[in-house]
Amino acid sequence: MSRIGGGLRFTGRKGCRARYRRGVKAIRRFSVRPVLPEPLRPLSDLARNLRWSWHPETRELFRSVDPDGWRAAGGDPVRLLGAVSARRLNELAEDRGFLRRLAVAAGDLHDYLTEPRWYQRAEGELPAAVAYFSPEFGITAALPQYSGGLGILAGDHLKAASDLGAPLIGVGLLYRHGYFRQSLSRDGWQQEHYPVLDPDEMPLEPLCEPDGTPVRPALRLPGGRTLHAQVWLAKVGRVPLLLLDSGVEENAPRERDVTDRLYGGGSEHRLLQEMLLGIGGVRAVRAYCRITGHPEPEVFHTNEGHAGFLGLERIRELGERGAPFEAAVEAVRAGTLFTTHTPVPAGIDRFDRELVARHFGEDGELPGVAAEQVLQLGTETYPGGDGGVFNMAVMGLRLAQRANGVSTLHGSVSREMFRGLWPGFDAAEVPIASVTNGVHAPTWTAAEMRRPAPGTDDAGLWELRRTLRERLVEEVRRRLYDSWRQRGASPAELGWIDGVFDPDVLTVGFARRVPAYKRLTLMLRDRERFTRLLLHPERPVQFVVAGKAHPADEGGKRLIQELVRFADDPRVRHRIVFLPDYGMGMAQHLYTGCDVWLNNPLRPLEACGTSGMKAALNGGLNLSVLDGWWDEWYEPDFGWAIPTAEDGAVAGTAGGASGGGPLGDSPADRERRDAMEAAALYGLLEEQVAPCFYERGAAGDGLPERWIGMVRQTLTRLGPKLPADRMVREYVERLYTPAARAHRAMDTAAAERLAEWKARVRAGWPRVAVDHVESVAGSVELGGKLALRVRVLLGDLAPGDVEVQVVAGRVDASDTLSAADAVRVPLKVSGEPAEDGGRLYEGLLALDRTGPFGYTVRVLPAHPLLAGPAELGLVALPPDDLQAREAAGVLLR
Ligand SMILES: *Cc1c(COP(=O)(O)O)cnc(C)c1O
Repeated sequence: MSRIGGGLRFTGRKGCRARYRRGVKAIRRFSVRPVLPEPLRPLSDLARNLRWSWHPETRELFRSVDPDGWRAAGGDPVRLLGAVSARRLNELAEDRGFLRRLAVAAGDLHDYLTEPRWYQRAEGELPAAVAYFSPEFGITAALPQYSGGLGILAGDHLKAASDLGAPLIGVGLLYRHGYFRQSLSRDGWQQEHYPVLDPDEMPLEPLCEPDGTPVRPALRLPGGRTLHAQVWLAKVGRVPLLLLDSGVEENAPRERDVTDRLYGGGSEHRLLQEMLLGIGGVRAVRAYCRITGHPEPEVFHTNEGHAGFLGLERIRELGERGAPFEAAVEAVRAGTLFTTHTPVPAGIDRFDRELVARHFGEDGELPGVAAEQVLQLGTETYPGGDGGVFNMAVMGLRLAQRANGVSTLHGSVSREMFRGLWPGFDAAEVPIASVTNGVHAPTWTAAEMRRPAPGTDDAGLWELRRTLRERLVEEVRRRLYDSWRQRGASPAELGWIDGVFDPDVLTVGFARRVPAYKRLTLMLRDRERFTRLLLHPERPVQFVVAGKAHPADEGGKRLIQELVRFADDPRVRHRIVFLPDYGMGMAQHLYTGCDVWLNNPLRPLEACGTSGMKAALNGGLNLSVLDGWWDEWYEPDFGWAIPTAEDGAVAGTAGGASGGGPLGDSPADRERRDAMEAAALYGLLEEQVAPCFYERGAAGDGLPERWIGMVRQTLTRLGPKLPADRMVREYVERLYTPAARAHRAMDTAAAERLAEWKARVRAGWPRVAVDHVESVAGSVELGGKLALRVRVLLGDLAPGDVEVQVVAGRVDASDTLSAADAVRVPLKVSGEPAEDGGRLYEGLLALDRTGPFGYTVRVLPAHPLLAGPAELGLVALPPDDLQAREAAGVLLR
């Protein structure tokens, strides 16, 4: 405790905290912060808004408060202010220069928080607010609430939304131990540590009612238990982030531990976390809006399936106001966006149905919503689905009218993966869009690179890259030294670390989580060849590697150990290091300092990948399998594509092993594929990457001109696509705004009508059929027109319930239409119904392309409140649609 200025007091939290501390055994350390001298008060606001984490000028101000203290606090302003001496504070309170800089920083934050930004100027009926739910948020190392890419992306999303002025409210959980801290045992085995995070020492404040009572959502659990939570508020620039925390004293120990760890525990633990996130999260948002006057969200965005229960809570809310279940589902769907992040079926969140059933229904939470209705939403109804599980992604898709994947390739992989939910439709028509991820440039770009580096001359740009590499070398040595001390080495044994890495050697980075598909150890496939690369007399390469394996993933830990043991070898230990405890702080050094960023996942399992984007923003070149974002934006000017062996295509490439047919998933195929792709990786490094880096001075200036040219191309042409504000703008324009519009159109009456209409169409659909197709070709040549007459049976449905379409386009050798480039032309109903209810539809099809051409007709449900024709998964095709095409017999030349 520190005694400062006018004495001690609780840290500005009024009565809101004291209530559940008094008279009960403490569950946390009691932490008292200094009262800042009056002239320094603005420092507290600057420390409590996380904008400092992407604003170098504010960080510089904090550093100047106490440079040693700043280092000791790990660059965390809240911790710094908790530790700085009273004498120093009193000194600063009199320091005119400091106060002037403080006033500038405070004024700058005030302007940032209040001035109109992109969103305030954007056209269109933008949503009044969007709630963004995620199980993890990576905003700064000072708030360690993330495990990897999903969380970092969520953090970047909020920061970019703040920069754009988009009215988001973030919703997540506060894990008392975060994920875990990683160290290594002497023999290279991952050790996990779970230091307690004290909310008092983090940039958080409790969400309280105006009278100071803390907001406490509570969930009813089976067996008469209750799960209480408190809500913490973090300020991410303009965006509030609400974090629910079950570590409160009203809870029994079991419930108190619900938010103990990120991705820890068994499936019941995870279910409770997800119920708290989804259901408690909606309640926290409602309380926040009520208390602060923030507009209510019109759109709910769920980042992956974990927060899917938010839809059920909103169904309950509507039910309370009298909406029947089906209508409530429609109303919720209209304003919900679901983003899927994994193409790995094993990566999808699934629960035992029994477990879910026990937590819902009359005795559980959400008494107004029947357990059976909940279960149906998560049932895998498609072929190959497992009847015993409750699938969070499936529920996510059913409760969201809009969905997306996170790169163009991942969008198409997701449409394929989930197509069973829209039977009768081609994968290309499955309503899952894609928005390619981006990264928050101010967070991930070195300050020097943010000045107009592309405008610098070659020598300047190369010097800057060297400076960043040199800084990385220092960081590598420091972290390696700490790691060896933790592994039990004495300082006297560690003199060699001063010779680890060289600021003039080509530096390759590889850091990410360690699930099997990311293939941490692919580089070790041929150790002799890899060693020759590292130790090459003229063109050496140095590798910095990092990553955490999930605590339950023994396989991942074995891979780490394999890598660590390789890197421990005195022959190579100056050229390859494994740095434990990968996190945002380390990542910022790696992305800025590495020349090449390596990524070698099993294609197409990397949904997007973002670390390579962060490297590219700093002039790092990518060396990667064509997966995720790199598949979309790769150009030879930006780096190298590692050929993949998915379809045997790697044969014939540098060092390619025996070619062969398509590779499957058997262990032998996996082996063969790894061998081929590793050989391709070595070949690229030996023959292209290293020669390009070390090729100096055609112009006599000693500079690697080709390399610098690629760095410049990466910064100027690739760079502008990567920032997260591009991504958030796409979300706003393509998904949030249409969802808000749909939400507004869907009042309770409209939702009820839509639900009734859907029920009627589903019931009547078995009698909908294409009865007969006739075509009259004026002339079957380019520019001609085909007149079509189609007879359809609608049963109990009316022409207004459906659209009859002709779908036409190129066909392949088996007469299959390519859905991706087909045209769809609606036909018009003509005349009166026949006695059997048959209706005639007519229209013209323009023959506007040459070559093999075909068409078919189909009937689809049609309603103005549907987001697309595939929404219900219903379609009627001709009994044998092949016949219809042959009847036309169109073949243009
Ligand atoms: C960007 C980032 C990730 C995600 O990297 P991928 O390339 O998507 O695997 C993971 N961890 C940290 C700390 C990051 O900064």
